Amino acid sequence: MSDAHVHDFVGIGIGPFNLGLAALADPVEGLDGVFLDGRDRFEWHGGMMLDDATLQVPFLADLVTLADPTSRFSFLQFLKETGRLYPFYVRESFYPLRREYDRYCRWVADRLPTLRWGREVTEVAHDGEAYVVRAATGETFRGRRLVLGTGTAPRVPAGLETVLGERGTHSADYLARKAELQATGSITVVGSGQSAAEVYADLLAEQPAGGYALHWVTRSPRFFPMEYTKLTLEMTSPEWSAHFRGLPPETRTRVQAGQAALSKGISSATIDAIHDALYSRSVDGAPDTTLLTATEVTGAAREGDGWRLALRHTETGEAFSLATGSVVLATGYAAQVPAFLDPVRHRIRWDEQGRFLADERFALDDDGTVFVQNGEEHTHGFVAPDLGMGAMRSSVIIAALTGREVYPVEKRTAFQEFGVPDRLKGGVR
Ligand SMILES: Cc1cc2nc3c(=O)[nH]c(=O)nc-3n(C[C@H](O)[C@H](O)[C@H](O)COP(=O)(O)OP(=O)(O)OC[C@H]3O[C@@H](n4cnc5c(N)ncnc54)[C@H](O)[C@@H]3O)c2cc1C
Repeated sequence: MSDAHVHDFVGIGIGPFNLGLAALADPVEGLDGVFLDGRDRFEWHGGMMLDDATLQVPFLADLVTLADPTSRFSFLQFLKETGRLYPFYVRESFYPLRREYDRYCRWVADRLPTLRWGREVTEVAHDGEAYVVRAATGETFRGRRLVLGTGTAPRVPAGLETVLGERGTHSADYLARKAELQATGSITVVGSGQSAAEVYADLLAEQPAGGYALHWVTRSPRFFPMEYTKLTLEMTSPEWSAHFRGLPPETRTRVQAGQAALSKGISSATIDAIHDALYSRSVDGAPDTTLLTATEVTGAAREGDGWRLALRHTETGEAFSLATGSVVLATGYAAQVPAFLDPVRHRIRWDEQGRFLADERFALDDDGTVFVQNGEEHTHGFVAPDLGMGAMRSSVIIAALTGREVYPVEKRTAFQEFGVPDRLKGGVR
């Protein structure tokens, strides 16, 4: 069934970022957009929806507030309408529970008429007048512009692809596979970020005496904390992102290599809670667990019902191995270029590595007809997947879609300056 109507834009993917765009676009007179997602409804990282897990950003980083504090789609409005504002006020924590954020996004999604669920996009073409977006249902949706919000996909280290399947999973599917993992004699968690720590802590908390052994292996030199100090947090800003985007590509790569602690670390609270749990365990004897840093998993082979992991110590250089009943790869996520873009690749800007080349409008072409949300980390920096930047990016995209600044976009949010200030260029003062 073809939709002859031409929308101003079609949003592909409805994760938090395009959901935020839909919520901010909703009150904009005359802006006609439609959003497609292959899922039946909004779902945020269901595989990691651990009971006590919280967001790693404050509630103000909801879908809309940093762009429009009066929006009817704010987190506070959600709490008010669901009768939970006072308990939130008494709770006195800036950090909502992950489950709560998921419920909040669903609450917003239920109030937006522009969302179309159950539409997996299989192809995007251009008929000379508009983009023609084809869904697996056979429907087509036409739009003068596109906003790509298909998110990131689980990253699997080279050589470990075979682990996925029987007795092995990526953390993205952890909760669905948890009972199965716990039924194996031993579990190895691979990775150094928040997800790895949360999976390890969850399995440690439920580890029965004499039950499964638990191992945590990471290539990182230590279980390092996420940096939360305020002058560092100021880098989650449009001006730092603009500074980063202005650097030569090789400098960006070098700078990014030194920024793991800004987006890939573990919250200090989680690290300390793990040590506290191990300490408490040790009263009854050494906990049945192995924690290894500076250890790279170089391969995996089936052995009996489980796996033998090939390991290399990155400091001593020693090769060794570990037998394990099952494996959880908590090895992060990576941006992907969706295959459905193939027919319109010629309309999109690419860098030398075949990645999107987004500009200051988050546009992928000079005419500003294709935009990206959270596919531009290599050009705009570690802030790309950060929920705290979603409302601002949506504001910039809405300005490009409408030709006017519907939501004011702060040019400066930090006290510090990034790069050489103009007033100091050209001589010593
Ligand atoms: C466990 C976890 C916790 C996180 N916690 C935080 C946090 O606390 N704070 C923070 O700042 N960041 C956090 N992040 C990082 C980031 O904010 C999230 O990854 C966020 O979900 C990214 O949103 P997104 O809109 O880019 O994509 P996603 O949430 O990945 O959504 C993409 C959507 O696109 C749809 N889609 C994909 N392909 C197609 C297609 N072909 N057709 C139709 N639909 C398609 C998918 O179904 C999906 O719904 C977390 C990440 C993870 C994994």
